[in-house]
Amino acid sequence: MKKKPKELEIGLVMLEGCRCRCGHEWLPRAKGERPSVCPKCKTPRWDQPKLFERKP
Ligand SMILES: [Zn+2]
Repeated sequence: MKKKPKELEIGLVMLEGCRCRCGHEWLPRAKGERPSVCPKCKTPRWDQPKLFERKP
């Protein structure tokens, strides 16, 4: 018995978007490619949580 190929979901789908630790969300231009910086706050570590929180 042949395995049925996975059908692509239509309708409302989860898009592969990015969310920065600053809260900004965007869709990267190239699929599967990690954006180098957050377009809003320009941090290169947008996909990593803040290790140290600077206290006022
Ligand atoms: Zn950001």
